[in-house]
Amino acid sequence: MPPKICVLCEKSKAMVKRPKTGQIVCRDCFFYVFETEVHNTIVQSKLFNPGDRVAIGASGGKDSTVLAYVMKTLNERYQYGLELFLLSIDEGITGYRDDSLETVKRNQEQYDMPLKILSYDELYGWTMDAIVSQVGRKNNCTFCGVFRRQALDRGAAMLGVDHIVTGHNADDIAETVLMNIMRGDIARLGRCTAICTQGEDTIRRSKPFKYAYEKEIVMYAHFKKLDYFSTECIYSPDAYRGHARAFLKDLEAARPSAIIDIIHSGEAFEVREEIKATQKIQQTCQRCGYMSSNTLCKACTLLEGLERGMANSGITDKARKKLDAAGPTPDNIRTIPFFKPPSGSPAVTIDVPL
Ligand SMILES: [Zn+2]
Ligand SMILES: [Zn+2]
Repeated sequence: MPPKICVLCEKSKAMVKRPKTGQIVCRDCFFYVFETEVHNTIVQSKLFNPGDRVAIGASGGKDSTVLAYVMKTLNERYQYGLELFLLSIDEGITGYRDDSLETVKRNQEQYDMPLKILSYDELYGWTMDAIVSQVGRKNNCTFCGVFRRQALDRGAAMLGVDHIVTGHNADDIAETVLMNIMRGDIARLGRCTAICTQGEDTIRRSKPFKYAYEKEIVMYAHFKKLDYFSTECIYSPDAYRGHARAFLKDLEAARPSAIIDIIHSGEAFEVREEIKATQKIQQTCQRCGYMSSNTLCKACTLLEGLERGMANSGITDKARKKLDAAGPTPDNIRTIPFFKPPSGSPAVTIDVPL
C-alpha cells in the first residue's frame, strides 16, 4: 500500500490524523493548521493590542508550555507587537511544584522570556504542604484554587502587565460547561465559555486555546519535542471534574466534534435579565483590596480560618458561625498585602476559575 499523502499540501507523507477533524496530515501541515487556528481565535476575538504586555500563566505543564511556544511563534510571525512574560505561581507542593518550576525556568531560557515566580508562602504565609497538614486532603483544592487565582492577578500587577493568558483548552471549557449544567450553576454557565473576561479596570484574562483540543496540544508538544512536566498534582484531584472529564472522553470517542459542540451550546445560553439582577454586585475586599462579592474576599476568609486554626470556616456556613462565635478577628493574624490593580481603580467584575 503506498503511503498516505497529506490532504492539505498533497505532497508530503501523512503522519497524523487530526483528533479535531479526522484529517490525515503531514507534520508541518499539522503545526501550521494548529497555529493558524489559534491565530484566528486571537484575531477574531481581538484579544490583544500592539504594545500589550502579556503574562503567560506558566505551570510547566503541557498546556501552558505549548501556549508559551505558540504565543512566541505567532507574535513573531504576525507581528502582534506583544511583550511576553512567564508568570508562575509556586503553591509550595514538595515533589510536584518544585519540579515543575524547574521546567518553567528552562522554558524561560528556551523561549527567552522574563519569568516571575510568586509563592503562596510569600503572599499568604502558607504553603500548600502546610495547608494540607492542617485541613487534610478533602478540601485542599478549594484553598489552592482561590489562592492561585488571586496570586496570578497579584503577580501580573507586579509585572505591570495588561493581560494574562492561560492554557485552558477546549476540553477544559467543555468540562466546565458540563459541570455547571450538572450543578445547576446558571450564573457560571453563562460566563464560563467567555474567551476573555475583563472588568473595566481589572487585568484582562483570556484563553487563546479555547478551541484547541487537548489531544492536539499533546501531539504538538510531542512532535515539537517541547520540554514540559507531566505529573498530576499529588494532592487530591477534583473528583467531580474527573467524572465530567471521563464522560467527555466517552462522548469524544463516539463523536470528535462533541467538545466543540458543548462549547457552542454553552455559548448559546444566556442568562435572563431578572436572574442577572439577583447576582451579587462586585466590590473590593475591606481587608486586602481584591475584588470580592462580599465585604471579605474568599482568600481573606480562608486565610483567617487557617490562621485561627479553624480552616473549614471559609468552606461551610456551620464552621463560619463557629468562627464568628469564637470572637472578633484577632489583630495579630497574618493578612494579604493590600492589592492595587495596575490602573489604581477598584475591580468591578470577577470571572470563574476553571
Ligand atoms: Zn502537508
Ligand atoms: Zn481579601
